[in-house]
Amino acid sequence: MPALPEYRTRELLQSQDVPVVTGIFVESGSRLPSPLPVPAVYLKAQIPGATSRAKKGLVRRADTPESIVDGLEELLGEDSTEGVLITDAVEVVEEHYAACMLDLGSADSPPSGILLWSAKGGSGVEQRADSLVSIPFSLLHPPDESLILGHTRSAELASVLHGLIRTFCRFRLTVLEANPVAVLTDGTATILDCRAEFEKRAVSKQDTDLFSQPGSAVSDRTPLERAVENINSEDPSGTGFFRQNRETPPENALSIATNLCGGGGKMLWEMATGGGEDIFTMNESDTSGGLSAFKSYRILRTILAQKGAQALILTGSGMAFQNQHHIAAAVWKALRESATPLPCLLRFGGTDEDRARELIGRISSDLPVEVRVYPAEVFPNVMLDDLPAIALEEPVSADPRDEPQGTPLFSVDVPPGDFYFYPELLGGDGVPAFVEACPTGFLGWNGKKRLPEVQPDTRCIGCLLCEAVSLLDGNGEFRIHLNVPAEVSG
Ligand code: SF4
Repeated sequence: MPALPEYRTRELLQSQDVPVVTGIFVESGSRLPSPLPVPAVYLKAQIPGATSRAKKGLVRRADTPESIVDGLEELLGEDSTEGVLITDAVEVVEEHYAACMLDLGSADSPPSGILLWSAKGGSGVEQRADSLVSIPFSLLHPPDESLILGHTRSAELASVLHGLIRTFCRFRLTVLEANPVAVLTDGTATILDCRAEFEKRAVSKQDTDLFSQPGSAVSDRTPLERAVENINSEDPSGTGFFRQNRETPPENALSIATNLCGGGGKMLWEMATGGGEDIFTMNESDTSGGLSAFKSYRILRTILAQKGAQALILTGSGMAFQNQHHIAAAVWKALRESATPLPCLLRFGGTDEDRARELIGRISSDLPVEVRVYPAEVFPNVMLDDLPAIALEEPVSADPRDEPQGTPLFSVDVPPGDFYFYPELLGGDGVPAFVEACPTGFLGWNGKKRLPEVQPDTRCIGCLLCEAVSLLDGNGEFRIHLNVPAEVSG
């Protein structure tokens, strides 16, 4: 897994208000700082992946301004260094080793974190094995400080250790090491050195800059990524993120498309697959934050259009506010209207999750691919066991259901969609079920004209329930057309 150099790990910790020793970073190619820091200081070359700078001679103590300049000039000349971190030399009373690590869990236990802590500093975890205190913690519900206070009498130290857990969970790290955490002469505790490891696919998009490797920025976009950019510009509501994996799938790995909902969904998936070679995650994705089912559908169509995908995983954190019934309607629509549907493992958790499972249960036998549904209590690492059984050997080339034909009865701009009504398919005399299904009252019924009507002072939230109910409980008399970009529809 890639490692962050110390100066970048400090940024993560500082963003979570975890104390680190005072320091400045001098980037390669920049001028020497003016004024120079007051000696004594340590100069540390910042080389990504270098876990033992001291052994490589990349750390200098400087006790005079001249030795700071000499040390900087030497270390800034090192190959592949991103720069030099200059930190204050402080008076230390106690040194402690601390680290958070990821426990991937098993079929019976979900992934979790472990805080390792030893009242000794110095070398890494292997050398401290005999004196380590191990404190497991939940990633979804991190503990409060009182759990750690039970293991150390120092409130200052407990605060730093709790800050490590906070940072580890916030940035979905796989390792976060603080070595040492120092107790200073004034009784305060601070981190003197640190490093982090992370899983590239677990980095959320708002944190990309913090984790990007110099020179690794990818400015090009794939056609499907451009398609999602277009979807986002037409319908900016909520989060609609999609990025394809540029790497080559390992031999014999299953290529899996993902629709992950929110940071929790992404984190659980990364923890389930982290570091393994048997699953190749074809894309990062995040559909969350109040986006409509209309938009979920359009992004799902994009995800399904990835060439070489063998199955789709859809999961959130298992406790979403996003209505799961609406998401299920979007999944159903995407599977029946895509020319390249994928077998799916769908994990619904949150608002209306029972109705979501019920909907998929009703339609699954009529789909061109196998679909399995999981309750929120099942973690994605258990779902992985089912992937080999459903993954496609050859792509399915489906005959998508007919798009609505003719002229729309009306259109909505936000979220964008065209609504079609076919009176000849309408059965019965009462108010049709698809009208009664509308949760906002946007759809009304004109009994004289026997037509649906848009009601004033209401809005369409793009939930897709009217169309789903029309297909399930009516005769398909009310249909919705949602544009997908040309890159997706082919
Ligand atoms: S018309 Fe009503 S039921 Fe149909 S998508 Fe809009 S809000 Fe949902």
